[in-house]
Amino acid sequence: MIPPSETQLSLFGTTTTRLEDKDPPPPAKGTTAAKEKTANTISHSKMVQDTLKQFLGPKTQLVWTDNKSVLLSQGSGKNKHTFRMHQMFMEADEKVIVAIGRYFKTGHKPSGQLVDTFIKAHSHLLMHHEGSLPLNTGKGEHHDLHVIQEALSRIYFNGKVNLDIQWGRPRRQKRGRRSIQLGSYDARVQRITIHPSLDKAFIPEMCVARIVHHEMCHHVYPAQRSPSGRRMVHHKTFLEAEAQFVGAEEADAWLDRNLNKILRG
Ligand SMILES: [Zn+2]
Repeated sequence: MIPPSETQLSLFGTTTTRLEDKDPPPPAKGTTAAKEKTANTISHSKMVQDTLKQFLGPKTQLVWTDNKSVLLSQGSGKNKHTFRMHQMFMEADEKVIVAIGRYFKTGHKPSGQLVDTFIKAHSHLLMHHEGSLPLNTGKGEHHDLHVIQEALSRIYFNGKVNLDIQWGRPRRQKRGRRSIQLGSYDARVQRITIHPSLDKAFIPEMCVARIVHHEMCHHVYPAQRSPSGRRMVHHKTFLEAEAQFVGAEEADAWLDRNLNKILRG
């Protein structure tokens, strides 16, 4: 475990910038079981926040996150102290929460070990349900998407964007294919996927960054409805933000020129 002065507890040694606040997914509404689950979740969250306040001060606010690389982190703002906790701790009992509070306050080693044990026992909750991928798949053979995203976040988004990011799984290319989707953003799970054919030594990092930046813009500037009700993805605000990326034209020109080579894999 890293010392609490780093204010982060990380399973995988990743250091990331501040997280976006994310809400946990809601259970199916209406049923008695779902209502009971909601009530339990609310009272459990209250217990967690109250416990953290005892250790970290009355201004402590709990935020549940889905961030898989930083499971626990804290940060102080003007008038509040935010404690971010991965949703896996929704299953943690008071003993574990007390250990978290104590560890972050004093660095108490046995408490840190107790938290580590809980994380190891619950690490299956770090996987996505549908088509789970191994963790940290953004670290490719030649380009590390986490590093690229972190730099872009710092330079273009005040360090506020920190999404799930991964290389897509290699698929056999259809013969004669002339175009390729190099990146995508899934707003539902807040995840960027980059086409694996870009994880090559001959692809300049700027080109990968250009694609990642475009997808980050999709997160920050979501789709809008036109007055006629049409869904607009690359709307004016989006395009203005995208244009901030320095080197976009050169990167696009390079990708265009080398598309055949990229498609060949
Ligand atoms: Zn787009």
